[in-house]
Amino acid sequence: MSNADRIDAYLNRSSDDADAAFEAWADTPGGASLRVDWQDFFEFDDELADKWIDRPRSIAKLWSRRLRNRYQNPETDDLEKPISKMPVRPVNLPDRACFRLGGLRERHLGTLVEVPVEVVEVESVDPWLRKAVWECLECGALNPTSQGYGHIRFGTCRGCETSLDKKNTSLMRDGTEMVDFQKLVVIPRDSALDDPPSIQVFLTGDIVGKVGIEDEITVVGKYRTLPMAMQRETQLNTFVDAKALDVDERQQAGALSTTELDEALIGLVDELWSEDGTTYGVPVEDVISAIGTQHDVRHAEVQTRIEALEDDGEFTMVSGAIIKD
Ligand SMILES: [Zn+2]
Repeated sequence: MSNADRIDAYLNRSSDDADAAFEAWADTPGGASLRVDWQDFFEFDDELADKWIDRPRSIAKLWSRRLRNRYQNPETDDLEKPISKMPVRPVNLPDRACFRLGGLRERHLGTLVEVPVEVVEVESVDPWLRKAVWECLECGALNPTSQGYGHIRFGTCRGCETSLDKKNTSLMRDGTEMVDFQKLVVIPRDSALDDPPSIQVFLTGDIVGKVGIEDEITVVGKYRTLPMAMQRETQLNTFVDAKALDVDERQQAGALSTTELDEALIGLVDELWSEDGTTYGVPVEDVISAIGTQHDVRHAEVQTRIEALEDDGEFTMVSGAIIKD
């Protein structure tokens, strides 16, 4: 069986997940992905699974072609974000690819790694230019140019060989590709060091906007050096180009404002209190999960606001229950 046939067979076997991801992508192009449990995939095809870790780019291309083959429909496809662009996200890597942050070495560069980390910095979500089509203002030729992270690449015009730059090009909408992008800084979980090693994690696509500071997450991604234009010394800075993210909770960070969250919390506590809270109080766990479910708010955020409201004297907490005064 060819590699393509093997991927097709795997997609057939997990067609419920694959179809659901495809439908989500068709609804919101750019806003979905297909998660694949690596260990499950390994049992199906150990050779391809190992190659996915060692040469992630070639396997990502293979997934992309097989998704296109399976789902492409020229009549209904989104031209800017066809199904072949849907990320296939590997989770649950084997021990040989799992590391603490301090354990990553030069030999792991370019391979997939899985690192359990704590988030210490979160930047805003911005569009990232993945592919630019530059119109040469000298001759009118269109120049599709793949972009990396960091500085914009222009290249040389394929029409007149002019060296392209900001001044002699214009960015064409057709063919230009943008994706959501977010940068995190993470450290090892439970580090005993005062100044623990940190690394940047770059997120793209539907995994942006999911985490907040102090979240404990597991990142699967390609361990890479930053582009040369972003380096200052021969001792190179590295980052993790995230392919998948496991957060305990998958809700959006900051779904409600503090005021909205406080109002929802106080309202719910009032309600539960008048139902049957007066005997033992209202269990904090119940409040956290109810608010989390009703409003799609991350549990850590609810916990923080409950503590803040207690500090404000809104209510008292006694052995895991909220007591209204
Ligand atoms: Zn030109």
